[in-house]
Amino acid sequence: MRYVSTRGNPGSRAFLDILLEGLAPDGGLYVPEEYPRISQGELQAMRGMGYSDVAFKILSKFIDDIPGEDLKKLVDATYTEEVFGKDIVPLKELEPGFFILGLSNGPTLAFKDIALQFLGRLFEYALSSSGEELNILGATSGDTGSAAEYAMRGRKGVRVFMLSPYGRMSDFQRKQMYTLDDANIFNIAIKGTFDDCQDAVKKVNDDASFKKEFNLGAVNSINWARIAAQVVYYVWGYLKVSRSNEEQVSFAVPTGNFGNILAGYVARKMGVPIKQLVLATNENDVLEEFFRTGVYRPRKGSEVAVTSSPSMDISKASNFERYIFDLVGRDAARMSELWGNLTNGGSFNISPPEIEKTRQDGFVAGSSTHEDRLRTIKSVFELYGVLIDPHTADGLHVGLEHREKDIPLLCLETALPVKFEATIREAVGKNPELPTGYRELEGKKERFEIQEADAERIKSFIREHVNVVS
Ligand SMILES: *Cc1c(COP(=O)(O)O)cnc(C)c1O
Repeated sequence: MRYVSTRGNPGSRAFLDILLEGLAPDGGLYVPEEYPRISQGELQAMRGMGYSDVAFKILSKFIDDIPGEDLKKLVDATYTEEVFGKDIVPLKELEPGFFILGLSNGPTLAFKDIALQFLGRLFEYALSSSGEELNILGATSGDTGSAAEYAMRGRKGVRVFMLSPYGRMSDFQRKQMYTLDDANIFNIAIKGTFDDCQDAVKKVNDDASFKKEFNLGAVNSINWARIAAQVVYYVWGYLKVSRSNEEQVSFAVPTGNFGNILAGYVARKMGVPIKQLVLATNENDVLEEFFRTGVYRPRKGSEVAVTSSPSMDISKASNFERYIFDLVGRDAARMSELWGNLTNGGSFNISPPEIEKTRQDGFVAGSSTHEDRLRTIKSVFELYGVLIDPHTADGLHVGLEHREKDIPLLCLETALPVKFEATIREAVGKNPELPTGYRELEGKKERFEIQEADAERIKSFIREHVNVVS
């Protein structure tokens, strides 16, 4: 399996070469040269398997430069009862033909754990072979940072420097991140907003010599390994609700950076019988607008609404480029033209035949508001006795608008409600339950450094701390 850039950089690379790299040298994203196929026979054979065996089958198709037995060990160590609970990815039937796929049973109670827990082990493996060290620098508004820290804590050869906006995260998110006491995790609380954190990270990365000297890396959602690990739960979900390969299912997916739903598109390309991919946004509807009108218009930072499904508050969708690459027939010149239009706050249009092709690819889209979210949380609780988080509620709301008779609908659960208490209280008038094992967070000591949003200060901080641990 070789990987190519969406902007046409000549040549292709192996999986381990793109793993730690992030963007391609031409600014594009890596995608497989060709999507691997899952044959009917393979799909049938997976029906009896557990999650970790299905994951190994799928991931082997994307990763062929790690010996099979090593990859198997990494996968088996990730998808265990200890990390994800007994069922790993449980399927909850709300009523016949209507399901929630539980992706939030990892250590930080959000779906990002599914890919990041694997990525942490993969990074450690790759670094131990090369003898390198990696310093991950990131910015978080809550979910991504904690999932990354829990994935990388205690891993050899990796340190995490995570910037978060001081005093602006939910209590649960703050506790979860700041109480980690592993020597390779550094929480930097920035006096400012999430945007200030992101700007500081970008400025540090702009210093090419610093970046090289300290081998700075990222774990953002454009990493192909994350997408590959997410393909697995689409296959798993399909197998759980279907009895034969003749049956089709649809998925409803709350999306921000187009990472989660891209994995569903890839699963469909690989041959999983998926009918619709229902894309759900919140008030930040840049993707819903695209699938409705064919116009992609990333928003300015100031146009991004602060919503009650905050992990989907995005101005542009970083993984979207991978889908458009396929949509324009992998034409690199066209890609440069389209992305050229986006510089300086612009937009681009796709043609009517291309809009038609998005439908053939299974995409339909809708958006959800705060009121929709509250109403959905309340009605799902009253009808089925199940409490869902605000992001999952966006998915359910839009999913139900597109639900088709006789096609099972699986709604992806992207976080547990306990992470977003205030909205749950507003919807149902009570607090969600804290899962067992999380009560002890309350009393734990928080450990963080307060810093100005200043790139030079961040650089000094990294410089002072790289020699201390490994
Ligand atoms: C990250 C996140 C999303 C959005 O996922 P994308 O990969 O950006 O599409 C949705 N819900 C929750 C809870 C998240 O943390």
